Amino acid sequence: MPEYAELLRGYRRFREGTYPRQRARFEETAMEGQHPKLMIIGCSDSRVDPAQIFDVDPGEIFVVRNVAALVPPFETTPGLHGVSAAVEFAVQMLEVKQILVMGHGRCGGCKAALTENLAAASPGEGGFVANWIKLLDEARKPVAEKHGTSGREAELAMEFAAVRQSLANLRTFPWVAEKETAGEIKLRGAHFSIKEGVLYSLDEDTGEFLPED
Ligand SMILES: [Zn+2]
Repeated sequence: MPEYAELLRGYRRFREGTYPRQRARFEETAMEGQHPKLMIIGCSDSRVDPAQIFDVDPGEIFVVRNVAALVPPFETTPGLHGVSAAVEFAVQMLEVKQILVMGHGRCGGCKAALTENLAAASPGEGGFVANWIKLLDEARKPVAEKHGTSGREAELAMEFAAVRQSLANLRTFPWVAEKETAGEIKLRGAHFSIKEGVLYSLDEDTGEFLPED
């Protein structure tokens, strides 16, 4: 595990290499504010950093990461709706043109949803995760019926189902659905295979995830 000193070694590489190259870009976006055209909802997993995978410049993607890359449905109940706040800010204030939900291979959150091994856990012992991945309860059922609850095939099916569920949940936000209908925003799903280093894009017409070149 990196100590802070190791992070600072990386920071110095950034200061010597990336920052001078990107300096104009940082300064421009500092003055003008951010105008990203794309929002990405990804997993907190340390292996799937959208900025690294898509090799983008500062200011290009507005990112939310959480356990299993999930979007909750539109809810106005009291609560701390962090993901919904980010979606609202991206769609209504930044007016992003696309939202990409990116799941990934070997996702621990999806695996926990599939196995339900944390279902009885208390806060601090997996209870927060268990509560969060309840968002996948509906999506889990057909996966478990078809593939069982263990093995890579079942896990992959759960990972794909999670992306579809988050897209469906995004469409419960009235202004997201309206903008999609009006052609002002495009919703996309993808799955990044950590083992292969390959991105699979969801074709929503067929429901298939197909590898990009
Ligand atoms: Zn994950």
